[in-house]
Amino acid sequence: MKNETKCLHSGYTPVNAGPRVMPIYQSTTYRYTSTDEVGAVFNDPTRSHIYTRFTNPTVDVVEKKIADLEGGVAAMCTSSGQMASMMSILNLCHAGDSFISTSTIYGGTVNLFAVTLKKLGVECIFVDPDATEEEISAKIKPNTKAVFAETLSNPAVVVLDIEKFVKIAHKHKIPLILDNTFPTPILCRPFEWGADVVIHSTSKYMDGHALQVGGVIVDSGKFDFTNGNFPEFTEPDESYHGTIYTRDYAFAPYIIKARMQLMRDFGAYPAGHSGFLLNLGLETLALRMKRYCENAMTMAEYFVSTGMFEEVRYPGLKGDKYYDLAQKYLPNGCSGVISLTVKGGKQAAAKFMDGLKMASNEVHVADIRTCVLHPATATHRQLTDEQLIACGINPGLVRFSVGLENVDDIINDVDNSLKNLR
Ligand SMILES: *Cc1c(COP(=O)(O)O)cnc(C)c1O
Repeated sequence: MKNETKCLHSGYTPVNAGPRVMPIYQSTTYRYTSTDEVGAVFNDPTRSHIYTRFTNPTVDVVEKKIADLEGGVAAMCTSSGQMASMMSILNLCHAGDSFISTSTIYGGTVNLFAVTLKKLGVECIFVDPDATEEEISAKIKPNTKAVFAETLSNPAVVVLDIEKFVKIAHKHKIPLILDNTFPTPILCRPFEWGADVVIHSTSKYMDGHALQVGGVIVDSGKFDFTNGNFPEFTEPDESYHGTIYTRDYAFAPYIIKARMQLMRDFGAYPAGHSGFLLNLGLETLALRMKRYCENAMTMAEYFVSTGMFEEVRYPGLKGDKYYDLAQKYLPNGCSGVISLTVKGGKQAAAKFMDGLKMASNEVHVADIRTCVLHPATATHRQLTDEQLIACGINPGLVRFSVGLENVDDIINDVDNSLKNLR
């Protein structure tokens, strides 16, 4: 099936006379008829559901759908994108280990990696995504267990040279984890380029309607965890009656380990109702992404035409620094986020945003409605000026997240606001 079809059909096939739409299983637990049965499920938790702290039938359907959309073998939903990022790392690194991350990532992730994981003894080594293979490789140490990056970064819309990063990670026998939130599998499928793990904040385009926060981790099933670098995958897990993940779950050792260790212990799992709402968003994902791309391209060209911006960054624009990479990795469109630098700095940026009537000033992105945010004083507020620059953010930068309104109305709204600045 093609992705447009998978959005509608993957993950759930009704039984004869069963409900057409996947039902909401709002239950903490699952009843068994014998202790033998319960024992068997504990032996092999992939058989059926045990407890909603780490699996749920409704969420399971969503996991299967997203895994299928990405072309992976298995997925695990999490209660937020932040939790997907954190678990994707903690599944590979423990105290004393390190990992590489590009610096142009979401501000919340920067804080999680640089501050919170550091407290847990895991070191994040930040690199410039545009650095050469040699420069990045030089930062990898014997204890480095993963490479992390965003395919299309939030908010600087840097397009990642995925193949360069795959090469670096695989040369050092460590997996590449890509945050694919902005492109979604509709615009880019990182596994096809060799990435090993994909994560998403489903709060963004996947949910699409600003209804619920969530995340997901997807396993390509292709990384060789028996290469000697990952004893936790190849030696018996004493916390799970001696399971050896690469032996017992060779089809998806990464995601099964994440569920059996991290999700079992942390329990950051979505409820059935959240899975139901996320599925509803996913059903129209392909349709919506096409329209986001069209509207954003029109808006990017319009922003340039006004002459009111120091910089209009959208990788779909000819002449953009990342145009060539976008042609390669995002041939069907560059998603819906435009990074704008208003002439006149911080004050002008605020005036521009305050003058918008339809577009909302809110801490969100990738919503069905147009929204704007000033990263330097909001999502990236905790960062130092130095970190801001490394993230590709300057004080006048406005993140413009194009919605699905008629594009003429978005232009009108912007045009009215720009009148105050002229
Ligand atoms: C929002 C976002 C996150 C964090 O996700 P939450 O669902 O808000 O926890 C991670 N990565 C990217 C690219 C994001 O845009």
